[in-house]
Amino acid sequence: MFLKKKLIILFLCFFIISFVLSSIPAIVVSADTDIQLTNTLGGSIPQEDVWSTITISAAGDVTLGRDAITAYYGSFDHEVELQKSNYSYFMKNVKHLFETDDLTIVNLEGPLTKATIAAEKQFRFKGSAVYTEVLKQGSIEAVNLANNHMFDYQDQGYWDTVSNLSGANLGYFGFEHKYLTEVKGIKIGMLGLLGWDSSKQKKEEIKKAVESLKEQGAGANLIIASFHWGEERKYTPNKIQKDLGRYCIDIGVDLVLGHHPHVVQGIETYKGKSIVYSMGNFCFGGNKNPTDKDAYIYQHSFNFKNNVLQQEEGQVIPVSISSVKTRNNYQPTPLKGIEADRVMNKIKNCSLGLNQ
Ligand SMILES: [Zn+2]
Repeated sequence: MFLKKKLIILFLCFFIISFVLSSIPAIVVSADTDIQLTNTLGGSIPQEDVWSTITISAAGDVTLGRDAITAYYGSFDHEVELQKSNYSYFMKNVKHLFETDDLTIVNLEGPLTKATIAAEKQFRFKGSAVYTEVLKQGSIEAVNLANNHMFDYQDQGYWDTVSNLSGANLGYFGFEHKYLTEVKGIKIGMLGLLGWDSSKQKKEEIKKAVESLKEQGAGANLIIASFHWGEERKYTPNKIQKDLGRYCIDIGVDLVLGHHPHVVQGIETYKGKSIVYSMGNFCFGGNKNPTDKDAYIYQHSFNFKNNVLQQEEGQVIPVSISSVKTRNNYQPTPLKGIEADRVMNKIKNCSLGLNQ
């Protein structure tokens, strides 16, 4: 009889504990959401923090086409013919990096146009409108237009390029264009700038552009400035680059990306932000066989909580602008083994002096 009573008490205890446990809500913790537990007595609705990570990939000079006075043999246009207009050939070896990020940006160094009247200058590049497919099929979403070749076929070449990019649903920025896009609820604003001088006037121009991206209507959470600057074949940035790069960070730019020298320059960390001075060439139709084929893709991840930047991190992926060493086959390729180490060390050495 006494044992039976004990068993009943035990059973009741078990029942009560099970009931209490089942009434506690399950707490699910996922990588994307940070659930705040609220006091149920207060009756407030649980508020979830929204976390999002935006990864941006960037690369240097992309010239789709050639200078008409150079021989056709071995040119970018010739490669298109050899590949039977299979435009996916060009970004084949880097596409896996670009299609898994949130946004890929390059510098489009030359117009996509049928215009025939060239500017009076040494190198005049142009390519066919259909070359937008190289960008599309390579998972590149937006291009910088502000560079010293965009007007090689004058105003017509420039406006044809804008219309061809727009028709292909690609983003573009530089000169009178800014680009604003939204990824995972984060608004990203992009500026394309020529960085030949760091005058007061230039800085005013940059400040106005940054402010217009930040103001209420646009409301960019993240601002990227893409600069065409520096000196050709110089591995160190000049004073103007340093001045402009740091100025941009001072006024609220989150990432500065540079191009034009055709070779790599280092990366400076300034006030916790990255100034990438030069990523080198990329898919570059401007030279059939450059002696220095070293370049890099720069990837940067920004982590947001409720649209406010919490932390960020950059990464360098060393590449060769060609998958063969003997010439430029216009197929940028990530490097492996000792070649990757060599280029990584070169970039590190270039960065040393910038971060002292
Ligand atoms: Zn240039």
